Amino acid sequence: MISTGRQSRVSVVDSGQLTEFAVEALVSVGACPAQAALTAEVLVAADLAGVDSHGVARLRRYVDGLRGGTINGTARPRIVDERGGVSVVDADNGLGQPALCFAVDLGTERAREHGVAAVAVRRSNHIGIAGWYTERAARTGSFALVTTNATPQVTPVGAVEPMFGTDPVSYAVPTTGEPLCYDGATSVVPRGVLERLHREGRPMLPGWAVTPDGATASDIARVIAGLKAREGYALLPVGGPGQDLGGHKGSGIALLAELLCGPLTGASWSLHTYGAQGANLGHFVLCLNLMALGDPGRIIGDIETMTAEIRAAKRADDEVPVRLPGERRHRSARERSANGIPLPGPVVEDLREIAELTGITPPRLRTPVLASGARDMPPARGERGDPPGLPDTIDLSSGQIVEPLPAVAREAMCRMLLEPRVSAYAPAPGLPELRSAVASHYERRTGTAVPPEHITVTAGARHGLFAAIAALARGREILVPVPHWSHYPTVVRQAGAVPVTVPGDPARGLLVDAARLEAVRTPRTAALLLNSPVNPSGACYDEDQMRSLRAWAACHDIRVIVDDVYWAYGSSVDTAVHAGPHELVVGGASKVYALAGLRIGWVWAEPDYSAAVQEIVEHTTGPVAVLDQAATAAVLRQENSAGGTGSAVAGDGVRRRAAALTRQRAWALEAMAAVPYLRPLPPAGGIYLCLDASQALEGRLLGAANDQELCRALRHHAGVGLRAGSTFGMPGFLRLCVAETQDMLRTAAHRLTVCLTTAADTVNYH
Ligand code: PMP
Repeated sequence: MISTGRQSRVSVVDSGQLTEFAVEALVSVGACPAQAALTAEVLVAADLAGVDSHGVARLRRYVDGLRGGTINGTARPRIVDERGGVSVVDADNGLGQPALCFAVDLGTERAREHGVAAVAVRRSNHIGIAGWYTERAARTGSFALVTTNATPQVTPVGAVEPMFGTDPVSYAVPTTGEPLCYDGATSVVPRGVLERLHREGRPMLPGWAVTPDGATASDIARVIAGLKAREGYALLPVGGPGQDLGGHKGSGIALLAELLCGPLTGASWSLHTYGAQGANLGHFVLCLNLMALGDPGRIIGDIETMTAEIRAAKRADDEVPVRLPGERRHRSARERSANGIPLPGPVVEDLREIAELTGITPPRLRTPVLASGARDMPPARGERGDPPGLPDTIDLSSGQIVEPLPAVAREAMCRMLLEPRVSAYAPAPGLPELRSAVASHYERRTGTAVPPEHITVTAGARHGLFAAIAALARGREILVPVPHWSHYPTVVRQAGAVPVTVPGDPARGLLVDAARLEAVRTPRTAALLLNSPVNPSGACYDEDQMRSLRAWAACHDIRVIVDDVYWAYGSSVDTAVHAGPHELVVGGASKVYALAGLRIGWVWAEPDYSAAVQEIVEHTTGPVAVLDQAATAAVLRQENSAGGTGSAVAGDGVRRRAAALTRQRAWALEAMAAVPYLRPLPPAGGIYLCLDASQALEGRLLGAANDQELCRALRHHAGVGLRAGSTFGMPGFLRLCVAETQDMLRTAAHRLTVCLTTAADTVNYH
């Protein structure tokens, strides 16, 4: 059996269950219910946001503080001084969360009256994540800044002794979506991060912390223990030691937090916190109501334009999008709200101890999983249901390239919003600007004139396929080479035609040739449905093969429907594609332009066919959404103007995506080649990779008798989502999407390796 590395058992719990448990625990040790509820909400918000170090992992300290009387469970924060927009609050040594929440609500209210307000809080305790409070304020229309001090752990620049807290500084501004929210400690890493890395068996880096004698610290366990026991170990401020990388700046910002939360507020500064009279932490809140600065709509608009420009900046790494503060937390919160919160073993143990100590019931946990590598082995056959994917599943099953909407698309939508056309039906065949942009793409690609009237806009390429098939083959047969996109047979049937599958040639990468087509041709054959690079195999038809297929079709008066959605992702660009008496072209914005959510496709056909296609569109979906057409037109125009002609037609965005996919296919191939019992088929293009699973199926690994069962088992036990090949006419195969980072693909391959090797050991498969 191979080693699965350092594995700590992780359990999953619903956020609601966890909140209830935290409330009960706090109430049982003397917190008043309203304050317990607020404290629990902030703690669980941190767990949802993926800031595990500030979530229920801290509950034990609060419970101990309330039990031991160092935190006052019935405290009432009160205003002790107030001048204009400035208020001073005494937290009465109560829980920090209700105190700071009181201060933030006071700040936003006073900012509404005065434009700007500051609230200083003294005699308080730990507050959880600072971003929770600034976001709360931002949702009321204020810019907000919050900072707090904490137990001393960080050394000022030039010293080697802990004096400052890790003192988070958070700010947030409203947007039309989630607030834009920064929340960061003033040390390079806070202790909570060291604890997480230690749990995951990962090392610390030089420049993060120093030993009591000022040497660079490298023993992570020792540093954590030394910080906890206050043995003189110290974290370094942002920028590290000395001034070379700006340590003096991190130190200066920490000093700002200390000044605001200590002397200015009347609380202790970090060095003197947690004395005989309690923690006496200080917090500082600044709120600036946007109304005081002019038109909030204009301000939010400007913020969103600015953030869009930042996101569109040239990337340091093509694979890693430019992220703004808070995005990762918001994404985690959405995902964990839906799938539950993973809790590592030591935290679960802590919660159990709290439950025992306070006599309450521990939260109900979902299936335990292993933090890295394989999950528990499957129960005996027959007991297994069809479990949903677990929270950290790497889902490679769908075929999407997801990117932020480009600025030109957003701007086009905004412009369209102000036009009367926005709320009217679009012309049935599509907006003139989109039809022109599509026509211009094909014109540049083929070198021949393409009248925009020959383009019909559809609700996605699949609707284009439906309309094209219904227009020319109702009641007749359509040849569908195998393997094929899983939807083809159904779309063909729903369009009233009969799919006739044509097996591809294993000796030619599973592609078909004229001889194979001729073998199944009948008088009822109306069309051949061609797609290159092929979803799922990634095989590509070259120019000669396409010419020969077109010639065969013309010779038998059979139409070719070219599904052109992946046109830029193959080994060559089909410049001979052309709507004519024997050809219809179906394209779309989902794949090559990464606009799947806009649902824009099109059919390029000669006038007779176009009229038939338009008739079908008009009576099925009707005209397509105006905003989506406007955005797609803008993207296509930009790509057309940046691209060349012929096979060099791709513009900047398409070229970047195609180059990224070439790399991603290579990474996926390399990673999956190392997975035992699965054998990848090298793809020539496209966004997928197929794995031959016959060895795993022969060995009945994970109890799977076919590719569908294997797929379900791998999703559950390896945490990797794949698609079963049988849906593509490739039974015994699995398909994965390669449009992911190298890290994700490697982790997926590692999980599959661990899972299948462990499964093989279990069934003595060798
Ligand atoms: N054709 C093929 C070969 C596909 O793989 C897909 C989507 N996976 C489509 C068409 C459909 O594209 P759209 O999202 O535009 O409906």
